[in-house]
Amino acid sequence: MRNLFDDAKSRLDKVLPLLSLPEDIAIRLAQPKLNLTVNIPVRMDDGSLKVFTGYRVQYDDTRGPYKGGIRFHPDVCIDEVTSLAFWMTVKCAVAGLPFGGAKGGVAVDAKMLSKLELERLSRGYIRAIADIIGPKRDIPAPDMYTNATIMGWMADEYNLIMREQLPGVITGKPVYLGGSKGREAATGQGALYVLECWLKRNTKKLQGMRIAVQGFGNAGYHFARLAQEAGCKVMALSDSKGAIYSKDGLDPKKIMFHRKKHNELKAMLYCDVSICEEAENEVMTNEELLALDVDVLVLAAMENQITKDNAVKIQAKLILEIANGPITSQADEILQKNNAVVIPDVLANAGGVTVSYFEWVQNRAGYYWEEEEVNEKLKYLLQKQAGIIFNTAEEKKVTLRSAAYIEGLERISGAIQNRGTKEYFQNL
Ligand code: NAD
Repeated sequence: MRNLFDDAKSRLDKVLPLLSLPEDIAIRLAQPKLNLTVNIPVRMDDGSLKVFTGYRVQYDDTRGPYKGGIRFHPDVCIDEVTSLAFWMTVKCAVAGLPFGGAKGGVAVDAKMLSKLELERLSRGYIRAIADIIGPKRDIPAPDMYTNATIMGWMADEYNLIMREQLPGVITGKPVYLGGSKGREAATGQGALYVLECWLKRNTKKLQGMRIAVQGFGNAGYHFARLAQEAGCKVMALSDSKGAIYSKDGLDPKKIMFHRKKHNELKAMLYCDVSICEEAENEVMTNEELLALDVDVLVLAAMENQITKDNAVKIQAKLILEIANGPITSQADEILQKNNAVVIPDVLANAGGVTVSYFEWVQNRAGYYWEEEEVNEKLKYLLQKQAGIIFNTAEEKKVTLRSAAYIEGLERISGAIQNRGTKEYFQNL
């Protein structure tokens, strides 16, 4: 299989011929502006010293400061972080936000660290990248295996370094530290608004839709909970260890309640109990969940979940990508041949970065909004952008992914061209 970044860029190559953009734009967007690798020494609780490798990739900032989450996962590598930074660049443009794209990560199995070790690592990472971030330069946020608590530590470390209160440097913070109401559920909530918009356009309703959700973390849980509240039947849920299924429907809130209780009892940041151990439901594998005959398959775990090897097994005719890059480009073609519609990541999961944008706006204004206001604004912005993309797909007879890339690239290239010809002068 080709590497993730080459696969991510192939989406760009697919839509470029459909746009009359100067060749310079494609040349410029083929690589990030900066990729930084850092080695972070961390004193462990037993007195030993360990060094963790971290990255921050700044892809493009023509439309505004860089924006993108920080991932803690053992498989984090420069190829993955670069792909995620590229997707963030397209996503911020698709969502119409005044940001460029970036991403960060640390190669670590965060579940193996104590809370104090995790705090030292989080603070060490910020010290290592402090020179290139800032509320007007590059604004990190949470991603897989990072959360509001970790963002709080990171924001505090940055303020200590700068000797200033700069809450706008990081979004996804706890509400106590200037986080936005509604941010925690924003990615799932946004995905539901986009799905609702697509169904309405196709004269369908959320009520009664049978859904399967891969990934029961921040994004997957809130989506499943809100979808069920809106009348969907949650047939299956999964985490990294496996999946559960019930023909009568699962209750995501009840399952999360047990996990939270377990976490609180053990004073842990991450849950060490799998979804499979908790409920009295049929257990299955993640592969089986993906192949279920449901109305909507929701991918909310990680990249490369549907590939050319399992794409033919997918029965769902509507797939919602909440994770970044869960479908490879080869799998995309197979799904298209099988008449499956994919609502792409750069639109479906843009709710998280949109409310991060609201958080940044509130931090800079020093004036905070109620949750209803946040959700109202989120719904308006996302459904407006979704409508534009659905229209483009219809007019140009392309997939929703290609339509999203067309819109995003037009906005990025518009910004690049209107900023003038500085590269030309710099190189003279
Ligand atoms: P998280 O760490 O809160 O949860 C990840 C979940 O995925 C966990 O339940 C984990 O057990 C599960 N998982 C991991 N590997 C798996 C596998 N191989 N198969 C099935 N399940 C697996 O992470 P999150 O914040 O919910 O992010 C999930 C995805 O959504 C990522 O791709 C992330 O980039 C994307 N995303 C998240 C946000 C956000 O605001 N949290 C925003 C946009 C996109």
